[in-house]
Amino acid sequence: MSILPETAKVLVVGGGPGGSTAATLLARLGHDVTLLEQSHFPRYHIGESLLPTILDVIDLLGAREKLETCGFTRKRGAYLEWGPETWGLNFGELSGNSTYAFQVVRSEFDHFLLEHAKSQGVRVFEGVEAEEILFDGERPRRVQWRRGPQDGQAAAGSNGNRASSINAAGAGEAERGEISFDYLIDASGRNSLMANRYLRNRRFHKVFQNVAVWGYWKNVDRLATGREGDIAVGSIPAGWLWAIPLHDETMSIGVVMHKDALAAKRHLGLEKIYADAIAESPLLTSITRPGQLVSELSTEQDYSYASQKFCGPGYFMVGDAACFLDPLLSSGVHLATYSAVLAAASIASIYRGEVAADDAMAFFEQCYRQAYLRFLVFLSAFYDVGRAKESYFWEAQRLTQEDVDAGDLKRAFLNLVTGVKDLADATNETAHHLVLEEMTRRVDENLHMRQNKQHLAALQANEPTVTAANARFFNSIEGLFALDAADAVAGLYVRTKPILGLSRTREETVN
Ligand SMILES: Cc1cc2nc3c(=O)[nH]c(=O)nc-3n(C[C@H](O)[C@H](O)[C@H](O)COP(=O)(O)OP(=O)(O)OC[C@H]3O[C@@H](n4cnc5c(N)ncnc54)[C@H](O)[C@@H]3O)c2cc1C
Repeated sequence: MSILPETAKVLVVGGGPGGSTAATLLARLGHDVTLLEQSHFPRYHIGESLLPTILDVIDLLGAREKLETCGFTRKRGAYLEWGPETWGLNFGELSGNSTYAFQVVRSEFDHFLLEHAKSQGVRVFEGVEAEEILFDGERPRRVQWRRGPQDGQAAAGSNGNRASSINAAGAGEAERGEISFDYLIDASGRNSLMANRYLRNRRFHKVFQNVAVWGYWKNVDRLATGREGDIAVGSIPAGWLWAIPLHDETMSIGVVMHKDALAAKRHLGLEKIYADAIAESPLLTSITRPGQLVSELSTEQDYSYASQKFCGPGYFMVGDAACFLDPLLSSGVHLATYSAVLAAASIASIYRGEVAADDAMAFFEQCYRQAYLRFLVFLSAFYDVGRAKESYFWEAQRLTQEDVDAGDLKRAFLNLVTGVKDLADATNETAHHLVLEEMTRRVDENLHMRQNKQHLAALQANEPTVTAANARFFNSIEGLFALDAADAVAGLYVRTKPILGLSRTREETVN
């Protein structure tokens, strides 16, 4: 059993995709990084369908070759029966960028990332919970940790030479200690140590107050959508369902409904609600027809939320610790790893004296919030194009002004929708309306463009600027933006070569 250090330059709390990505990136730059994870990996987690940006992140981590040998299912796109329409969507179809992602058993994927972090020099401690944060003014400076009784016993038995800050644990007692640090990366997921316990500034959106119920199936028809490996999504009047084929021969199948609809049916029992939802979707019925449910059902409220601040003096919140989005667009791991890249680049540049801490924080705050808001609006627009059925569920997926601050919304979309001037001059109400309307139009256009593959090929041959503009637009939402000067946020962008950090745009340097 390893002994925790008393100090670290960077302390990461949480070993999910957000925490292990940030930790690995910093360790690869030579920083002293300690990561505390309360569970022992492999541990279960929902969130199995990834987006193609995962390949760019894995490249930055130096783990691509290793990942390709893990055997995860390759995901080349999605098949949707959405409202009255059907779409087969291929990654890279318009942009030519990454043409696949993975469907992953999260216990294996997260374990893979954490083991990779260890191999890159991160000091990882599993079974260690960050219990309390101690502050110097607003700046977190120390964490009090706790290792459970079983871990404590193992530690006492395996090594009597204890660091002075550790209270040696007797048999059956938890072991406790303290670690100080320069920077804290809170990657504690939905627990959100900073936001929930100290800042108390997490705000739930009114929109997307949904609940998910899911289980794992075997012997299903994995080719019901015509192509193995894709995620299948089917809408029903009360919500929608996912089917994600995993490499262990199981399929993750879940239904998402509004919380009130689920509460109203609760007396029927979860199994019946789940079975009825599958029976209502022709797509999910054909997938599950030959199969059997081989697990218990799980359920989780997946209400969307965002903290009012994503960072502050000496700390950065990445992934679900900062914000969470309804799972329809499989954006969770993308946002977690993207924000981890932003946090690692910010801390690395602060240490190298390339940017002032306040500037790096302003960059991180705006960049991550913009990435989140763009997805949030995209999500609402996606729900809007599927809304053919009259049902409360579909009405409840409309983003309102109460959900998003108009100033933040304008900043996130200023260079993306319509003329910059239109949006800059718009009032709060018209800005909100303008952005939503434009996004719905673009989503609709994008889906229809990709619906007819022959038409798409002709469009790409004859009108390449139309398809290129479309691809640029969606890349700025689903891709890793702010990675070049043209995309700079608050005068800074992430440089990935020759080494990870933040760079200033040329104009800013001249000024
Ligand atoms: C129903 C549902 C379906 C989803 N589907 C998808 C999907 O298809 N694709 C997708 O990309 N995303 C999906 N998501 C979202 C995805 O699960 C998350 O966004 C993603 O896991 C976030 O990663 P993270 O690293 O921020 O947090 P997590 O993966 O949650 O990791 C946080 C880690 O921190 C640890 N921790 C917490 N508190 C402490 C503490 N005090 N001390 C030490 N350790 C601590 C936890 O044990 C955990 O291991 C879905 C979510 C839901 C609810």
